[in-house]
Amino acid sequence: MQQIQAPKGTKDVLPSESYKWHYIERTMRELCSLYGAKELRTPIIEHTELFLRGVGDTTDIVQKEMYTFLDKGERSITLKPEGTAGMVRAFLENRLFNEPMPQKLYYLNSPTFRYEKPQAGRYREHHQFGVEFVGSYSPETDAEVILLAMTLFGKLGVEELSLHINSIGCGECRKAYNTALKEYLVGYLDEMCDTCRSRFDKNPMRIIDCKEPRCREIVKKAPRTIDYLCADCKKHFEGVKACLDAAGVPYVIDPDIVRGLDYYTGTVFEVISQRIGAQGAVCAGGRYNGLIEELGGSPLPAVGFGLGMERLLAVMENNGVEFPKPPQVKVYFAANGDEARLKAFVLSQQLRQRGISSEFDHMERSFKAQFKYANKLDAQYTAVIGDDELAAGAAKVKCMADGSEETVPFDKLGEYFS
Ligand code: ATP
Ligand code: MG
Repeated sequence: MQQIQAPKGTKDVLPSESYKWHYIERTMRELCSLYGAKELRTPIIEHTELFLRGVGDTTDIVQKEMYTFLDKGERSITLKPEGTAGMVRAFLENRLFNEPMPQKLYYLNSPTFRYEKPQAGRYREHHQFGVEFVGSYSPETDAEVILLAMTLFGKLGVEELSLHINSIGCGECRKAYNTALKEYLVGYLDEMCDTCRSRFDKNPMRIIDCKEPRCREIVKKAPRTIDYLCADCKKHFEGVKACLDAAGVPYVIDPDIVRGLDYYTGTVFEVISQRIGAQGAVCAGGRYNGLIEELGGSPLPAVGFGLGMERLLAVMENNGVEFPKPPQVKVYFAANGDEARLKAFVLSQQLRQRGISSEFDHMERSFKAQFKYANKLDAQYTAVIGDDELAAGAAKVKCMADGSEETVPFDKLGEYFS
């Protein structure tokens, strides 16, 4: 019979890898707590409408990449293609706007689905860590969100990443910019790809982000948002830079970043690795002052980012980061005979109840093979129970590191290993 395989573009995280994820997740949680951010978990599925309105129907994600289906009640449902829209939906639905501002929220390990061509660093299911800080207009908030990401990379031992920042301005700046951009592009309309031609009227700024070589060539000399900022947006961007300077965070100003989602206003940024190939963006985000209103709330500003956990892991591995090893088994019971096996079963459970990891033979291995297995497990101690030990009511405990042996009464094992 043919074996069933995982859907294309998905990945299993094996036991030999999952401890790395745990380390990353732990570090993220600790860091979020230092910044006062709290976790908000949202469902994997949302009404499709949320992403049409939230992410924007001229974005690649919405136009080409969503996993959308009708459920049995004929509702159009979409698997989360990004984290922010769901967070904002939950924020509004649960009236978190009544809480003191800013609301600092984060999500972790959030399954994210995009129907893309699978390749290195690009999956159909990936996982994102992200933060959303809601309620503040101040440039310190943008800088703090960026700082949180950069601090995370530092804590995880990755120094090689570069921070690229830009401002795409507000609605006001965008009007002036769009006019200038369209004036420049209009002569090239025939040479552009179909998608960009349709973007020309709806959302011309997105053409800057096109991956088609011919479009890239055309936009090389096109105007950039950063030269069309209104006084307020200019001041805000200066403020963000001043905060990053004050915090000693290096960055480059990259006028090419416009981001692939419609909701951004003002600051946008990407954190890029040079070492993991073409899919080098590990983290991307920015300010989105219009999204909350767009999704039915009162106007509230916000800033956040999404970070691809698979790409982060790839960067860490590429940078030779040493992951803390998963904890070893502390005690392995090697038992000989049925009565001894039962004893090992019970004692093992007692140790676990005291928080001491322990293991015994599940495979009916020979006495000798049990020792071999204990070595494979890299157990710190073996506790031997044979006929003599049963009679004496004590196990022979061997420390695997130095080979020393001690006889420890069964009822004292808990204390001994604590
Ligand atoms: P890209 O330019 O690589 O397509 P994007 O602009 O679509 O990225 P975002 O929507 O900003 O990416 O998502 C945030 C982060 O999620 C990215 O920086 C990346 O680390 C990760 N990511 C996005 N799409 C994928 C994917 N298909 N597979 C793995 N990780 C992804
Ligand atoms: Mg993409």
